[in-house]
Amino acid sequence: MNIVIIGPPGAGKGTQAERLVLKYGLMHISTGDLLRDAIKAGTILGREAKTAVDAGELVSDEVVIGLVRDRLSKKQKADHGFILDGFPRTLSQAAALESLLRDLAMPLDHVVAFDIEVGLLEERIARRAEQSLRAGKPIRSDDSPEVLKIRLEEFARATAALTPFYEQRRLLRFVDASADVDDVTAQIGSFLER
Ligand code: AMP
Repeated sequence: MNIVIIGPPGAGKGTQAERLVLKYGLMHISTGDLLRDAIKAGTILGREAKTAVDAGELVSDEVVIGLVRDRLSKKQKADHGFILDGFPRTLSQAAALESLLRDLAMPLDHVVAFDIEVGLLEERIARRAEQSLRAGKPIRSDDSPEVLKIRLEEFARATAALTPFYEQRRLLRFVDASADVDDVTAQIGSFLER
């Protein structure tokens, strides 16, 4: 089962991806996590990406497509599948993914779009920052209200174009991401197992 999840920051993509990994044994590929790891490790790629990530802007298509290509190429065909979280975010990333998956003979089965109101996202991101603070963990540099605003604009501008792209391919399924975590998991499960 090969899945893409798309949705705005704070919609719960990471949480649901982790659950799908446990339930179906999927390989989780989060471009946000890969970029944060590269930034922390201080690699050349990380240094290149840092300015955009800190500002809430998109990292270049070339860099993120390269990251995803590396990960997927290493994947064994016999594995259970993958879940891509935070990629694609632009039409050119979606087109690159389509051609990569064709080359690797790994067709996409579902694109899960998280539908949620902006007001709720702001609350959730603020809660995520509070929880990190309480747990003594670092707060994500891009979770400040100012940067969140830019990330939401990026989502609306670039990522919204993905909806018609995947609708045309009959892969798109919407979930109501304002529901509680278990409910969202159940909604996703219901169409994955259909
Ligand atoms: P995320 O953890 O998915 O919210 O991503 C955090 C940040 O990483 C984003 O705000 C972007 O700066 C960068 N990023 C992650 N995925 C992508 C992508 N597919 N294309 C461009 N930039 C990305």
